Amino acid sequence: MRIIEDLHTHTYYSHGKSSPRENVLRAIELGLESVAVSEHAGGNIWIGVRGKKLERLNAELRALKKEFAGKILVKNGLECNVTDFGKSDIPKDRSGYDVIILGYHKGVAPVNRFAWHILMESFGGKSTPRRNAESILAAAEAGHADIISHPNLYLKVDIPYMAECARQLGIMLEINSARVTMSAEELRICRDKGVKLIIGSDAHIASRVGDFEKALAAAREAGVLDSVVNIEQ
Ligand SMILES: [Zn+2]
Ligand SMILES: [Zn+2]
Repeated sequence: MRIIEDLHTHTYYSHGKSSPRENVLRAIELGLESVAVSEHAGGNIWIGVRGKKLERLNAELRALKKEFAGKILVKNGLECNVTDFGKSDIPKDRSGYDVIILGYHKGVAPVNRFAWHILMESFGGKSTPRRNAESILAAAEAGHADIISHPNLYLKVDIPYMAECARQLGIMLEINSARVTMSAEELRICRDKGVKLIIGSDAHIASRVGDFEKALAAAREAGVLDSVVNIEQ
């Protein structure tokens, strides 16, 4: 089993502990072909990276890309937030980004009734899995997201529907290795629907970059390893 790439890592630019360089060095140590720093996007009030700070991060990643060319492919990613029904903070101009991840997170200011509803749900309110899935998928489609991170986290989604639509849209679903958010049954539904699965460490410290242990165990148990795109068996 070989891990090809980890596209979901955070740094001290948001609420992580390590620098982008430390994440890259750890990925090299593990023999990964590529690694992304995919910080929380600006729509998140608490941890979003925006403005001058985001410019500094982007510049740092461009420099790391050059410095480590030939050793590892450093990718500039962004983990964006669903902000409203079908809407997100994915940048309009995504040309500087190699990978766009979209997920539902707490910490987004609610702008209307739907946004209030999902915020309430994330704190234990009434669940609307189909509508939540529709909302995330519409936002992912509109912003051309590559990956939907941790489906079901904070907000329950209709996995059969999400898997079917994500496959049609060419969007991958993440098996998050910090906390596995899909059951074995749901992972098998993803496999059967033919959607691509990708493991992300969601590392917030360099030592966890490429830590796929929990996700691999879940994928193995569910029998879906063949659907995981970023490992080689
Ligand atoms: Zn996330
Ligand atoms: Zn994350």
